[in-house]
Amino acid sequence: MATTTTEATKTSTNGEDQKQSQNLRHQEVGHKSLLQSDELYQYILETSVYPREPESMKELREVTAKHPWNIMTTSADEGQFLNMLIKLVNAKNTMEIGVYTGYSLLATALALPEDGKILAMDVNRENYELGLPIIEKAGVAHKIDFREGPALPVLDELVADEKNHGTYDFIFVDADKDNYINYHKRLIDLVKVGGVIGYDNTLWNGSVVAPPDAPMRKYVRYYRDFVLELNKALAADPRIEICMLPVGDGITICRRIN
Ligand code: SAM
Ligand code: CA
Repeated sequence: MATTTTEATKTSTNGEDQKQSQNLRHQEVGHKSLLQSDELYQYILETSVYPREPESMKELREVTAKHPWNIMTTSADEGQFLNMLIKLVNAKNTMEIGVYTGYSLLATALALPEDGKILAMDVNRENYELGLPIIEKAGVAHKIDFREGPALPVLDELVADEKNHGTYDFIFVDADKDNYINYHKRLIDLVKVGGVIGYDNTLWNGSVVAPPDAPMRKYVRYYRDFVLELNKALAADPRIEICMLPVGDGITICRRIN
């Protein structure tokens, strides 16, 4: 009897142990894939990003580092990712909403063929002009059509002309997060079937999983609900396939399927 009880206890303990260690294993894998280690991130930058970063992108990154709003720039690993993605989808006609000093813009321009195009929009021309001499020196400025001003009216104008529907191969959205859903409503008509829209900052400083009363910077708190809303809307949109990547501050890749 005593033996049976002991064995029963042992079996159940073993079962729980096993379950617990499986849970732990999964958590560990999750943590690794979310790169919650500065050393691992640094390893990626030093091993595979910086050694392959084009000289012009390095120069633009260094100029931007001195700018007071440099926190807005696209990280070097995300720049490398965008450059690769644009080549993988053979993009030619592209769009960028949110240019700042132009790091992601340059990553895009360098990836495009000689006759490739980027319609680039930003409310601020001054910051774009900080990076422009470097973009010109890299020999890719002719691919860029920069429009100063809010993106939404430009998109409305494009959507109004059916000729523009389904004409964009790749679109990168990295601007005012409270407008992403408005952008999506228009971009879904402008991107071609099989084309890609990338929405940036969809993990929003990690705040998407923070409790509502957690301390947050004011701008993080302000845009958080818009990002949460966008993530839900994208996941529920049957016109696209999606893949949310923990690159940079999170980027959701959407592929239009109909
Ligand atoms: N992609 C840029 C890079 O690689 O450095 C970073 C873009 S930054 C995060 C966001 C940009 O969106 C800012 O330069 C800001 O001026 C611009 N922006 C904000 N509201 C906008 C709007 N309504 N239309 C167009 N651009 C806007
Ligand atoms: Ca961004």
